[in-house]
Formats: sequence, structure tokens, C-alpha cells
Amino acid sequence: EPADPQDRDPRQLATRLPFLALGGSAPPHAVLQQVAHLLRASPSSSSHRFVNQLFGGRENLAVAAEVLATIRNNSMYTFKAAGAQVLVERELIAHMGRKVGFERAEGSFCPGGSMANLLALLLARNAHFPDAREHGCRGELVAIYTSKEGHYSIQKAAGILGLGRSSVRTIPVDDRGRMRADRLRRCIAEDQEQGIRPVLVNATAGTTVRGAFDPLRDLAAVATAAGAWFHVDGALGATAVLSPSTRQLVDGLELADSISWNPHKMMGVPLQCSLLLVSRPSALAQSLDETADYLFQTDDASNDPGRRSIQCGRRNDALKLWAAWRRLGDEGFSARVDRQFALARFAASAIAADPSFVLIEEPSSINVCFRVRGVDPAALCEVLHRSGRLSIGHGLVGTQRALRLVCVNPEIGEPELRAILDEILQAATGLCERVADRS
Ligand SMILES: *Cc1c(COP(=O)(O)O)cnc(C)c1O
Repeated sequence: EPADPQDRDPRQLATRLPFLALGGSAPPHAVLQQVAHLLRASPSSSSHRFVNQLFGGRENLAVAAEVLATIRNNSMYTFKAAGAQVLVERELIAHMGRKVGFERAEGSFCPGGSMANLLALLLARNAHFPDAREHGCRGELVAIYTSKEGHYSIQKAAGILGLGRSSVRTIPVDDRGRMRADRLRRCIAEDQEQGIRPVLVNATAGTTVRGAFDPLRDLAAVATAAGAWFHVDGALGATAVLSPSTRQLVDGLELADSISWNPHKMMGVPLQCSLLLVSRPSALAQSLDETADYLFQTDDASNDPGRRSIQCGRRNDALKLWAAWRRLGDEGFSARVDRQFALARFAASAIAADPSFVLIEEPSSINVCFRVRGVDPAALCEVLHRSGRLSIGHGLVGTQRALRLVCVNPEIGEPELRAILDEILQAATGLCERVADRS
């Protein structure tokens, strides 16, 4: 059911929630009513009209496991504190490591893909400058490479780690949004001529707007020849490794030094669930282990994930993923990926068949980029958002602004996709009429 339009305006919404202010106390039933009220006034990410984020829908067993994990409330730093949950994490890291083709994977569950990317940059920095952890970076000339359509968390991480946002080179993409290996090679060569050290190449498996997959094998060859750490940001698309029919999109994944992977996107488990997988043994501990006598009291460090994480106290993000995997099996996840890709192909063909729409390109994966002929996508998204009828986003495909429909929720089937497209056309008609009235 459509959300209340008044809830879509932050100022109006605030006046409708007078009980927000903290200070006094309230009886439990009143608090629960207020919580329910707050939830009703928040977007529902499992609604069949929610297609604007790279997550959506609900995998019931994962939700149940999440709630139960919260009730147990373990902290994941040591075996003593988390018991069997440490083994659950270890099994996931081993299983996902085998899926990506690492001989011996290490890994760390992170609070999101941005944090996983940050951790990858840290490992790359310390691999290049073993002194940096102890003494900091001392005016080193470094460069990091990502594509023009890569995720902004790479720039953010470079800023946080003292490598500098200006060290990030954004490499041009081809007409399908994939990083160009030839341009990467040229950019690295130019840097090297000036004595600048290539520290990390970030390839994206599933770009945020277009869902494009960079050519991993080619980029790995360039990175390796330059001595750079090869990271794959697979926050969105590493999941493609789970289906035989999409596996070739991540061909060469096993060549990565590290991979970010967000099960909270295509695998449908609740936020947050994200990992960094690392193929270089001990790299995580080399960058993160601290002696904390009061905490780490076992001889075998492998039992204490806290030696390989940025956080100290860390919530249990593993159990929900394990529960979903146990339920679906490898085959269930493979089928889920196939369905997401099939839904995107369906939406694209429905769009291509309707002359009111312009399909910007055939989808590379689960994101469909298009627009309504003659209508500004940003204005259209805003109208849809305000009406509470549909949550859809927009982004730039090259220089063109486009609506981005994300087919991540397998429950949004073909009839719902048709209804979404109708909703968009209705809103576009309304928008054109209003513009015509004004002029
Ligand atoms: C979503 C995304 C991220 C960021 O992940 P968060 O969990 O939102 O921090 C990074 N890279 C890519 C390609 C993404 O799609």
C-alpha cells in the first residue's frame, strides 16, 4: 500500500511525531505504539514498490536468525565471547573463499562494503609500506586506480587512510561502463615515469548505477605487472559467482588479493552483512592485530576474529547468512541470482517494447537504466517519491541521466514490474501536464 505522502517530507513528518523528543519516560505499551508509528512512517524495503536500492525484499530465515542473534547478543571478537558463532563465521569465510577460488581464504566481516573497501586499501598500503602501520606514511608518492563509475568509497577510504583523495585516478570506461585495461596500463605507466607508486587497482564487479562488470582477468594482469594490490569491489556483484550462468562475469576473480562482497545486497540477508575476503595469508593480522591482554587470552589466534577486524566489539552478522545458506543451499542461491538477472531482462524488454520509454542499454546485470521520453528522470523520481507510490532512483550513465530500476528482490515478479512501469508512465503524464499548465 502506498506510504502517506506527508511522511515523505522531513519537516512535515517531524511535526507529526511530537513524541520523538527524548527526556521524559513513558510506559512500555506507549513506547511500543510509538515504535510502530515510526516504522509506519519509514520506507518498507520489502514492499513491491521499492526498487531504488541495491537491496530489498526479505529472506525469512535470515530475518529470524538475525533476531535470534540479537537476543543472544554475542560479540564476535573471541571464541570465549562468541563460542559457536566464531565457527559459523569461519565456515562462511571458508565456503565463500572456495566459491571465489582462493586457495586459502582469510576474511573479516565488515559493517558494509565501504568499510570492506577501506580495509582493502589499508592492507594494500601496509603491503607496500611495511613501516606505515608503525610510523605513518611519510610523503610517499602513491596512486590508486578505480574506474570513473567505481563506488565513491574508494576516494573516501584514500582520504581516511592518509593516502589522499587526490591519489585516486579514475580510469575511463568503455561504452558498457567497464574499466578500460589499456587506459589503466597507460595511466600506471605515466605515474611510474614520475616516480609514483601504484599501490592498488580497484576493479568493480557490478557497478553501482549500471551494474557493469570490469574485465577482471585483464585488469589483474595489468595490476600484477605493476606490483599493485588487486582488489575487487564485488559489494554488489560478487554474488554472480554463485550461478554457473553468471560466473563468467567474474572470470578472473580468483586472481584478486582481496574481494569485498555484500550478502546484504543480492543474497537478500538483512543489513548489514558484508565481508572482505583476502587471499594473502596473514595480511589481516599483519595490519590489525594488537595485543590486548585483557581480551585475547587464547594461544590460537585463529579462534579470535578480533585479531583480524577493525572493530573491538562486533555484532554477529554471520548467523543470518549461514541460516539463509543452510536453507537455500548453493543451488538456491544460484537460482536466486538467475531470477534476478531474468527479471532485469524482462523489465528491459518491456521497456524496449514501449515507445514511451527509452532503454539506455541492455542491462549488464540486475540494474535497468532507462528514461521516459521527454521527461527529466530526477523530477520524475521526486514526484514518485513524494506521492509515496514508488521508490526508484536515478543516476548517470555516461553523461545521460537515467532512471535505475534494481531487480534485486526476487518477489517482485513480472506482473509487479509491469505495474511499476505503468506507475512511472502515469506519473510522467501528470508531470508533463503540470509543466504544460505552467507555461
Ligand atoms: C553498495 C556498494 C558499496 C558500498 O557498500 P555499503 O555496504 O553500502 O557500504 C561499494 N561498492 C559498490 C560497487 C557498491 O555497489
